[in-house]
Amino acid sequence: KISQTAPVIRQLDDAAINRIAAGEVVERPASAVKELVENALDAGARRVEVAYAQGGKTLIRVTDDGCGISPGDLPLALSRHATSKIDGSDLLNIHTFGFRGEALPSLGAVGRLTITSRAAGHDGAEISVSGGQMAKVKPAALNGGTTVTLRDLFFATPARLKFMRTDRAETQAITDIVKRLAMAEPFVAFTLRDVSDGGDGRVTFRADAETGDMFDALHGRLARILGTDFADNALKIDAEREGLRMTGYAALPTYSRGSAVAQYLFVNGRPVRDKMMIGALRAAYMDVLSRDRHPAAALFIDCDPMLVDVNVHPAKSEVRFRDPGLARGLIVSGLRHALAEAGHRASTTVAG
Ligand code: ADP
Ligand code: MG
Repeated sequence: KISQTAPVIRQLDDAAINRIAAGEVVERPASAVKELVENALDAGARRVEVAYAQGGKTLIRVTDDGCGISPGDLPLALSRHATSKIDGSDLLNIHTFGFRGEALPSLGAVGRLTITSRAAGHDGAEISVSGGQMAKVKPAALNGGTTVTLRDLFFATPARLKFMRTDRAETQAITDIVKRLAMAEPFVAFTLRDVSDGGDGRVTFRADAETGDMFDALHGRLARILGTDFADNALKIDAEREGLRMTGYAALPTYSRGSAVAQYLFVNGRPVRDKMMIGALRAAYMDVLSRDRHPAAALFIDCDPMLVDVNVHPAKSEVRFRDPGLARGLIVSGLRHALAEAGHRASTTVAG
């Protein structure tokens, strides 16, 4: 005998769906900064300006000089699973930071978002969404590019609001992600500004566009971000194995650090945190560093997008190599080779 009435199954509305998704995409202000700066870079920006107030809790503003969005596409930019970056037929072949079409609708569901943009051949326009409620597109005056303003992040999700840390801690996380993305794009100019006290605020990080070839530009950018001490003590890394290439700079063992803070890893231009890669970096220096020291390095693995899956998590900071052993071998042997050439011969034989 059935004693209870079955509950009714309902389809959730878009605002609720977006709020749920936002929990995965937007963990804290720095995740919003990451999504917005990646969008600017995907739009071909040569200049990206980031401003924040109160650790990004009350305001995040990202301005770029990229391709812009046409007025007719503005509502689509705020719709879930709408993207200009893939057509859905080839999830294995991704060349942009974004492709899920989730960031802007998620941010618009949990905060107050305004996009002001102007694409070539169109007038400037603006759209706003607050807690998932979208307003109509309005005309706006600007010369080109896009400005995205996000206010009151998580006002619509009080539970998440409680988990935000101090302004100082959130500012630190924002600074870290901007610097990581700035390393990945040395030919792009970046400015980071704290506007908590109003006005133009205070510039807390600036990197002008680097020039020269890829290695010159990266070396210059690393000097800017990690300091000339790192740059002067860094070995140029350029190694290849079966379709995987590793480039970048790795510090001499004498420049090692007491913590693992100066380890920057990228896969196909994307900053990642990957246990396998960190382990490989450690293993490469094993014989030339004592246990309590950590190597400092900025390493870029590039390969055919078919050889690595970036769609592991919505934030895309995890990756899965098709052949992790190959990636590990490249990192270990490439670094050991460079260290050996610089006179830091490991006791084990150098392969590759
Ligand atoms: P995704 O980046 O995964 O495509 P988003 O929600 O981040 O999804 O953005 C949705 C769409 O809005 C993008 O595909 C792009 O067409 C457009 N867009 C977002 N930000 C910018 C920008 N700064 N400049 C130009 N177009 C943008
Ligand atoms: Mg995006």
